[in-house]
Amino acid sequence: MRFTPCPKIDVHAHALLNRDLEYRTSIDISPEELLDIYDRIGVERGVLQPILSPEWITAPMTNGNTCAIARRWPDRFYWFFNLDPRTLANLPDTDFSDMIAFFRKLGAIGVGEVTANLYFDDPMVDNLFTQIEAAGLPVTIHIGPTKGGCYGLVDEVGLPRMEKMLKKHPDLVILGHSQPFWAEIDAGCTQETRGLYPTGKVREGRLAQLMREYGNLHCDMSANSCYNAMRRDPDYAYRFIEEFGGRMLYAADTCLPACNTYMYDMVRWLDESAAAGCISKKNYRAICRENAIRVLKLPLPLEP
Ligand SMILES: [Zn+2]
Repeated sequence: MRFTPCPKIDVHAHALLNRDLEYRTSIDISPEELLDIYDRIGVERGVLQPILSPEWITAPMTNGNTCAIARRWPDRFYWFFNLDPRTLANLPDTDFSDMIAFFRKLGAIGVGEVTANLYFDDPMVDNLFTQIEAAGLPVTIHIGPTKGGCYGLVDEVGLPRMEKMLKKHPDLVILGHSQPFWAEIDAGCTQETRGLYPTGKVREGRLAQLMREYGNLHCDMSANSCYNAMRRDPDYAYRFIEEFGGRMLYAADTCLPACNTYMYDMVRWLDESAAAGCISKKNYRAICRENAIRVLKLPLPLEP
């Protein structure tokens, strides 16, 4: 039987509205460039995520600019708004309800990507989570391995601080992402390697345990961090997908189109793995688009 690839929904995208007016470093992509890639690799739609925290970027993607891109291509983009936990008062009891209501009214369907280099269970992060949990919005988080020298919510090996937040906010859908997140696929995860792309056979690690224990934890499959985690031991990856495919979402996180080859690689790997029967048809379709439609409540039919 001939294999028909399932169109993808990319749940982790970035784009700069006025690219040429920005001082660009780690993110340098226009919406047109992103759509061109989507057309080539079979991505139906993307979910744009602004980045506002100053860590590691020089050209913040504002909520307004991101909304403007989504309005210009309403049949290709959805969008999240972003909210650095330090916004406004830099206090753990800041009331964000007006801001949350404002951006929801403009059509934002989630929050992220949270990249502030604060501890994962910092009172200000906890405060943000409490308020977006109450609003029923999902959040995409980037985990950083250290305080300083990187971006992302800080956690230690084993992700104890993330676990604390998963437990405290059971109705908050957390989409986990980044190297220190995916390095936890393996029990041998160490501080020395978890900020990189560790290789070698996988022994079940913290990630599977946390996924089993917390139904609100979801996997954002973007970037080389996930691609590497899947490819380092495909047999384990197929078992991981068999068990958790209902909470894994295809994503690309394309920042520098010229060197981000993983977005093509992941599409190819998913398609080839499904064609070879290593990933069930059900999980393949779930990962490519159905989980995104369900988790992000997208107004799309399940059938592409
Ligand atoms: Zn990102």
